[in-house]
Amino acid sequence: MDTTALMIRNLNLSYQDGLVVDDVTLGLNPQELGCLLGPSGCGKSTLLRAIAGFQELDSGEIWLDNQLLSTERQRVLPENRGVGMVFQDIALFPHLTVSDNIAFGLTDWPEISQYKRVAELLDLIGLMGLDQRYPHELSGGQQQRVALARAMAPKPKLLLLDEPFSGLDTELRGRLASEVRTILKSDGICSLLVTHDQREAFDFADRIAVMHEGHICQFDTPFNLYHEPTDPFVAHFVGPGEMIDAKIASPRSVSSPLGVLTNDEDLEYPINSDVQIFLRPDDLIHNDDSSYQAMLVGKHFRGAHHLYEVKLDNGVILGCLAPSHHNHAIGEMIGVSLDIEHLVVFPK
Ligand code: ADP
Ligand code: MG
Repeated sequence: MDTTALMIRNLNLSYQDGLVVDDVTLGLNPQELGCLLGPSGCGKSTLLRAIAGFQELDSGEIWLDNQLLSTERQRVLPENRGVGMVFQDIALFPHLTVSDNIAFGLTDWPEISQYKRVAELLDLIGLMGLDQRYPHELSGGQQQRVALARAMAPKPKLLLLDEPFSGLDTELRGRLASEVRTILKSDGICSLLVTHDQREAFDFADRIAVMHEGHICQFDTPFNLYHEPTDPFVAHFVGPGEMIDAKIASPRSVSSPLGVLTNDEDLEYPINSDVQIFLRPDDLIHNDDSSYQAMLVGKHFRGAHHLYEVKLDNGVILGCLAPSHHNHAIGEMIGVSLDIEHLVVFPK
């Protein structure tokens, strides 16, 4: 018995101009919150439309709860898939109250069950008491929560969310992504979010598929994508960092402009081969007591910390984290030290 909820196998999708989704294989476990993260145009919405049943397949298969939904020859109709969708454009019905909007997809439920489900969702989205308002009497964030509740109401097997927070201001976006995560987790609905925003993806998902030019580079937890990217595109896309040239010095070490750096596991590259190592700003920390000095050439105040750019004596410029109150001036020499737990190595 297959235990995945959503299973996509070797999916290829194209428009007249060619392939836009290239051999994608992806599975989500029951109640799991997944995310497709990638730059604009990489094929995320096309993939989502195929899962919803609006897109023809060139080849491959889409399964949901062990039911075959799509192949290149046949497709279950969108309305028969048990799949709900939420989009960026909040399409609430303006002439219906919050309650009636949420109950919209429940017309064939007994009235008492409709009432209970709407009350449960109002509670979950924190809009108890606003149930008789009309959409124009709500803020953008409240409207998006109602749209979410409406899509969740019929208890879909899978909920698809396509950039649902993009129309909202930055502060609200950050908050809503984690709020929506909490709401979906308490209702146990397996979901797939599409976004180009790394922070939103990290706030929302259990696992993230990083997409680039139609294919999935890595499907992993936010932690692993950040700390153990298996692909240079992923390394750069999920957070700041720099590649620097290095050479394999021993099975577990490299020689680099920062000296010899060691890893706690074998690196699996031949000795003396040229490689690149990827360093994040949190691998290099500002430390007034360190004898290793570097010049501060850039600084970005991030509230809780500074993100510094420091230039090493060999000219290499790296990001470096510093506590918020260490307010050094550009041009100053500051002490830095390495804090690397795991070396991220790519072939050169
Ligand atoms: P994303 O959601 O990641 O921004 P899309 O799936 O919308 O990307 O688009 C992927 C590629 O397919 C883009 O190059 C886009 O221009 C193209 N595309 C999207 N929709 C259509 C369409 N209806 N007809 C032709 N090409 C399309
Ligand atoms: Mg899109």
